[in-house]
Amino acid sequence: MKKRQIFLNQDEMPRQWYNILSDIKMNPPLGPNGNPVTPEQLAPVFPMNLIEQEVSTERWIDIPEEVLDVYSIWRPAPMVRAYNLEKALGTPARIYFKNESISPPGSHKPNTAVPQAYYNKVFGIEKMTTETGAGQWGSALSFACSHFGVECKVFMVRISFDQKPYRKTMMAAWGGNCVPSPSMDTRAGREALEKDPNTPGTLGIAISEAIEAAVGDESGKTRYSLGSVLNHVMLHQTVIGLEARKQMEKVGEYPDIIIGCAGGGSNFAGLAFPFVLDKINGKDIAIYPVEPAGCPTLTRAPFVYDHGDTARYTPLLPMHSLGHAFVPPPIHSGGLRYHGMAPTVSQLVNEGICEPRSVTQGKAYAAGVLLARTEGIIPAPETNHALAAVVEEAVRAREEGKEKVILFNWSGHGLLDLGAYEAYLSGNLKEDIDLPDTLLTEAGEVYAGNPKPGKLSSRR
Ligand SMILES: *Cc1c(COP(=O)(O)O)cnc(C)c1O
Repeated sequence: MKKRQIFLNQDEMPRQWYNILSDIKMNPPLGPNGNPVTPEQLAPVFPMNLIEQEVSTERWIDIPEEVLDVYSIWRPAPMVRAYNLEKALGTPARIYFKNESISPPGSHKPNTAVPQAYYNKVFGIEKMTTETGAGQWGSALSFACSHFGVECKVFMVRISFDQKPYRKTMMAAWGGNCVPSPSMDTRAGREALEKDPNTPGTLGIAISEAIEAAVGDESGKTRYSLGSVLNHVMLHQTVIGLEARKQMEKVGEYPDIIIGCAGGGSNFAGLAFPFVLDKINGKDIAIYPVEPAGCPTLTRAPFVYDHGDTARYTPLLPMHSLGHAFVPPPIHSGGLRYHGMAPTVSQLVNEGICEPRSVTQGKAYAAGVLLARTEGIIPAPETNHALAAVVEEAVRAREEGKEKVILFNWSGHGLLDLGAYEAYLSGNLKEDIDLPDTLLTEAGEVYAGNPKPGKLSSRR
């Protein structure tokens, strides 16, 4: 029998998260008056303990015991050597992945949902509101809230609400309350419905709704939660990469190539950031965030100041953005349909430390099916984008005759995304979503008048 899985004992689980803000310089988020946002301005939206984490520049931040306790339900996550994929591709590359699909909600998202629910609880918050695209984040936060006795309300992007009814049921099973977005519950939702009663919804609109629902609650006991993009989310996800580093060490390996799919950037960042530190310090690693060609934030949109949501409730964030009013085509990968990108990931791309790629929906599903037939797990549609890049790199290694070590993040399973697989397997999935430049230019008009982020450099 091959030694396929590389385990850590539970007492080898990381006790601290890695904070990349200690090692890179960032443009600050800007408030309505054009000045950097103060913690006080964010206080109606997030609990202060998370705001402190958002702006911290400490390199290592302790993981609270209560969080470790919930993590231990599924962590440490195994690392797997993808022997069968290597064989199927005839590649000399050695391919490893972190299997984040084994968490109860089925993705990496509870890595941050759990600490967010914990810090809200400790701060005295009784209810959390959030948005969800494909439903992964809504189910992760419902799961996390159930552990800490916090109420959870989820605004789910309409197209996914209709396509993925079982995600709602999952949320309900963990006690969460899920409504389709745009909804009539908020001003942002009502305005979106007025403009287009048949809108498929966007993450940008759903974020506006969830922020409004939190800030508008007069009890003061409700806060908003974001499942990606923000610094503290990237921080919590680094538990993935920190485990991965230990696991690679156990088998005497170090990656040449790191790959993760990127929607808001968190699962990619979680795996990559601990290795980014090595790269800043001189290691030679190629680090690829992979996005869908139908929502090409890092590969085709500029690095600008833009809002994180459609109704412009959030501060201006320095990030690659397609424009806060951009409505991505209805690709079967709800988790990657976001107009912006984590400022940290955007900054690293801007500096050339991470090199973004995009893949079409057809290529993504072809890779997903290949992985299902070799490694066994049916991947989430989002993960399929990473897989397409893994296959490309493994084939390149074969053509060049190079023994590359490839490490990627298996961000989730696709067992509640079978409608999309059905479409792919019956030949009804749209292969290519071709976005003309003019569409992107028009969408970008919304940030044309904003300040420009400055050039900063993290290279030592
Ligand atoms: C949400 C999600 C993503 C995309 O979000 P990131 O913040 O970019 O990680 C990727 N994969 C899965 C399985 C998801 O649920």
